[in-house]
Amino acid sequence: MTRGGATRLAQRLQAVGPSPTLAVMMEAKALRERGVDVIDFGPGEPDFDTPENVKRAGARAIADNLTHYTDTSGLLDLRKAISARYRERFGADWEPGEVLTGCGGKNVLFLLSLALFEPADRVAIFAPYWVSFPEQVRLCGATPVLLQAREEDGFVPRARDLEPHAGSLRAVILNTPCNPSGAVIPADEVERFVAFSERTGAVLISDETYDAFHYGPGEFSSFASLASRVRDRLVVVNSLSKTYAMTGWRVGYALGPRPIIEAMRTIQSHDATHTASISQAAAVEAIRGPQDSVLAMRAEYRRRRDEILGALSRIRGIACATPPGSFYVFPNVAGAERRLGCPSSADLARRLMTEIAVATVPGEAFGAPGFLRLSYALGIDRIREGMERLHRLLGGRET
Ligand code: PLP
Repeated sequence: MTRGGATRLAQRLQAVGPSPTLAVMMEAKALRERGVDVIDFGPGEPDFDTPENVKRAGARAIADNLTHYTDTSGLLDLRKAISARYRERFGADWEPGEVLTGCGGKNVLFLLSLALFEPADRVAIFAPYWVSFPEQVRLCGATPVLLQAREEDGFVPRARDLEPHAGSLRAVILNTPCNPSGAVIPADEVERFVAFSERTGAVLISDETYDAFHYGPGEFSSFASLASRVRDRLVVVNSLSKTYAMTGWRVGYALGPRPIIEAMRTIQSHDATHTASISQAAAVEAIRGPQDSVLAMRAEYRRRRDEILGALSRIRGIACATPPGSFYVFPNVAGAERRLGCPSSADLARRLMTEIAVATVPGEAFGAPGFLRLSYALGIDRIREGMERLHRLLGGRET
């Protein structure tokens, strides 16, 4: 038997830990099961139900026996719907053969990492980042190059920060609107990233999972609108999870150069094969059917965002900029840490959980200590109650 015996794990696991956001979810659940009334600002998923027309399409797929294997890339009809959506919305001309669907955005991003990255590769990621970006890169044996987006700049990633690494980057992973900061990359900065990619050959990966939840000002700027300039090196990833409150259905997708999409398809053919046929049928209806539920969710998120921002601005030791997108706020809590004598935001999050039963995710999880992520994917009454608990613990802001 080799060293470590039968339970010896692959080397690649040494650089990777479990998802910290899921850990908060489990902790909140455990407290709730003990009868504690937890106000849970942790969740990374909509509290809305999947729209009725989408649920009906799923049920119809079962009744119609659409319960067999589909194409590994997903139903042609679904890929056509995605391709048409991007053509209409952003003028991008990805054919259905340049679209791959999979088991959620997370899975699609992992297939993409597996298709592109190997040990010598360096991949730029801006902090605060979504927790799985660096871990997926590490699981492929490649090296995440972690850059900082600045709080005073609304956490917008800046292409100029890539310059010291120009020529050495295999790829740049961007996320707009951003989880956790809510930052949205404006059109002129999207252009600068595209120009960087044109000049250096780095692949651009744009995760636009929250693109439906942009509250302005102005329109959302997708990298897709500049796809023609970087056709051989841009991959846009998206998901139905947040847009249509379909987290459990597991449908995500990527649009990009045919060789990359085909490589992802090959990997998927030895992995999940495809996402569930029933979910795919529901996804076709989600994309082609009426969009009023998405607009209603966006209006409600916006109302909640404004509520939570107003309340946070009245709490001592907390400072929060207005995030233009996603369903998270990402306040600076350095003052609150000092006030409570917490050595870190992880410690602050623990204190909030144990002392006032308020669940948040500490900034350390996203490479940004000194901040907390609060999701506003919970009812406005719960938001108010959570804000009152924070106010009681930390006190009101001195005017
Ligand atoms: N990308 C970002 C930025 C996310 O926040 C998430 C989920 O939280 C995902 C991708 C993946 O979501 P899913 O796998 O449910 O499509």
